[in-house]
Amino acid sequence: MKSEVDLLLDLVAIPSVSSMSNRPVIDYALRQLDPKAWATKVYPYGEKINLVTVTRSPVKRAPELALVCHTDTVPFDPAWPEAVNPRIRAGKLYGRGSCDVKGFLACVLAAVSQIDVGRLSKPLAIVLTADEEIGCIGAKFLARKKAIRARYAIIGEPTGLRPVRAGKGYALGEIVVRGKEAHSAFPSRGHSAIYDAARVIARLEQVAKKLATRKNKDFDPPYTTLNVGLIRGGTAKNIVPGECRITVEWRPVPGDDATRAAVLIQEELARLGVDARFQVQRMDPPFDPSPTEELATLVESLSRSSSTTVAFGTEAAHLRSLTTETIVFGPGNMETAHKSGECVPVRELSRSVALLKTVIKTLCA
Ligand SMILES: [Zn+2]
Repeated sequence: MKSEVDLLLDLVAIPSVSSMSNRPVIDYALRQLDPKAWATKVYPYGEKINLVTVTRSPVKRAPELALVCHTDTVPFDPAWPEAVNPRIRAGKLYGRGSCDVKGFLACVLAAVSQIDVGRLSKPLAIVLTADEEIGCIGAKFLARKKAIRARYAIIGEPTGLRPVRAGKGYALGEIVVRGKEAHSAFPSRGHSAIYDAARVIARLEQVAKKLATRKNKDFDPPYTTLNVGLIRGGTAKNIVPGECRITVEWRPVPGDDATRAAVLIQEELARLGVDARFQVQRMDPPFDPSPTEELATLVESLSRSSSTTVAFGTEAAHLRSLTTETIVFGPGNMETAHKSGECVPVRELSRSVALLKTVIKTLCA
């Protein structure tokens, strides 16, 4: 029986950047589970595998609890030696995925290995997904297939062991502004796409202000935020620019329709009358709070922390509808994720295992 730390050292050493197949991580997880105790079904697409495994129970019923974890990680800087050679220093385990989110996976595998799952009267499920980091593709795939139906779900993400009961959505779009190229010595022969783009951006700032008037006090900041993160236009200093591209992102709060920002942007573009094409590239809904709070309350009391909300997107937005109540929870801090030096406190791993064991025994007994 491996400890959560040994499991995590193994998992970090298996690279699983979203651009690669996640099969080695899935195979590793399956090797830790007794096939006599777990009934497994895979949902592959291309090189990627989603896995749903449920404890074999004498009574046929839907799982009471699903523990959900993505298996991919963001890329890492090849100059970071610990990325796939994990090290423990000063009580923290360093490596890519250590907190986002192989730490939670190690805790799940350790917790179920320390419980006689064959004696649970209500089924427990483990759900492993692919491609979370590039748009929750695996979770969306499972949701479309209705691959699982569970009363409760805990979705692993680094929340510092605080239960998260709601989250903002995530949407992304691009505006392509077109002008007419000309020699810059004769600007009147062309039409500057960058001047028009500047007008568009000023309007986007107004849209952001309008979005901020609809409040959801459970969030910080308490409204749908909008960001113009990228702008790319022109070809040379002496050419009137013929094209300018603007990338705009917004994070809708629950209660605010994710499409509202898109409608407001479209209206502003129409009002400006510039040659601009707006295309929504992604529209992930918010993670709405669940109608019940039983799971959140249980985890609140075990973790001795009140539940909270997050401003980043998670798989909960897509999987919530397959459950009665979903929370997001896990060891580590999202602030260290997605950069070199990602780490997770070893103490949070052991606390997480103890908590998961109690939750499983309480809900599935
Ligand atoms: Zn994650």
